Amino acid sequence: MKAHDKLQTLVEEAVSFGKQWSPRNSLRKTEGGERDYPQKLLDLVIFHQLHVVLSAEHALRGYRALKEDFVDWNEVRVSSIREIQEALGLCPNSLELSVFIKDLLELLHRERQDVSLEFLAEKSLGEIRQYLKRFRTLDTSTAEFLIRTRREHPVLPLSHSMEVVLNRLGILGKGDSRPKNEKTLHESLDPSQSLLLHHYLLNHAVEVCPPDENEIDCPSCNLRHMCAFYARSGKKPRRIQEKNARPAARHSKDRSAKAPRASKPRDIAKHKPLRKISR
Ligand code: SF4
Repeated sequence: MKAHDKLQTLVEEAVSFGKQWSPRNSLRKTEGGERDYPQKLLDLVIFHQLHVVLSAEHALRGYRALKEDFVDWNEVRVSSIREIQEALGLCPNSLELSVFIKDLLELLHRERQDVSLEFLAEKSLGEIRQYLKRFRTLDTSTAEFLIRTRREHPVLPLSHSMEVVLNRLGILGKGDSRPKNEKTLHESLDPSQSLLLHHYLLNHAVEVCPPDENEIDCPSCNLRHMCAFYARSGKKPRRIQEKNARPAARHSKDRSAKAPRASKPRDIAKHKPLRKISR
């Protein structure tokens, strides 16, 4: 299948994902089908940063819990990391996310005596990118997403994990820069589909096809039929190959044989309901 046809199939998957994902959350759909994103820049940054490491559903629940459990972002700022983690449901990534949120809010408050990013609205794209670079753990796709939702910025924001999925599928070649890929992908799509595909790919990279090859779950992937990686890897996901190999390794005299891997945080996130934010 050609890359263009794969992209169209991906869009169909994204459309069906969007129908299931949007209704119960704060990112409502308007009548025109566009997502009604949070209006404030700080809200957008925090929501997107959750979405980079959590499934779409968990990211939305976490974002909504932060908005509902605290009076405002300033109350989040003065709360403990543990309290923020609890609002996020104590999922495996909640510690790093809580540290990121608290550091972001503290820095804003220290420098501007205000917990807001609205001052960026008047800045140029370069200045916005430059300012957000100060937050070292902010994913670059979050900055591009922010600009994309507020300005005329014709790109499909890409994170590293999204690029890995697109490479495995054989849609992106190796060698082109991220900005070029972001532009090319956007131009290949109906502009209204660009952000939906962005959310779908982020979610796919968290739930099914993370960058670590030992974590990918090809048997439950709807994209197997067109995936170059799956075709190359003998249609057998690596973690099943490893699992099958383990009994032999345990009885082998080879002491260098690897011990079984510990259970993976991603699996916990997927199967264990979030404690506090599942309402
Ligand atoms: S088939 Fe496997 S490698 Fe290909 S996109 Fe799906 S999970 Fe990723």
